[in-house]
Amino acid sequence: MYEEEVKAVEADVNYVDETLVCVDCGQEFTFTAGEQAFYAEKGYTNKPKRCKTCRDAKKNANKPAKQYFYAVCSECGGEAKLTFEPSQDKPVYCSACFEKRRNAR
Ligand SMILES: [Zn+2]
Ligand SMILES: [Zn+2]
Repeated sequence: MYEEEVKAVEADVNYVDETLVCVDCGQEFTFTAGEQAFYAEKGYTNKPKRCKTCRDAKKNANKPAKQYFYAVCSECGGEAKLTFEPSQDKPVYCSACFEKRRNAR
């Protein structure tokens, strides 16, 4: 029984290219024999769910890209750089005016 299992594992070493479907874009992509060997070596048991394009996109998405919003300062009319999306009904201030207002309180 045990010997049979070992044989089955050895048989898996002969990797063949496999066509998988990306869960993100629905495109078929090749999980190559080389990649399968790499996965096995790393001890990954799951097959990749995404094509390389989507994997790369995901990798980049994980990097916290600092996003800024630009608006017109309600105080001086200058450019206000915001770390949040400005709402239309609330005044926004540039950093200088924001500081001024805070200190004035
Ligand atoms: Zn994809
Ligand atoms: Zn200002």
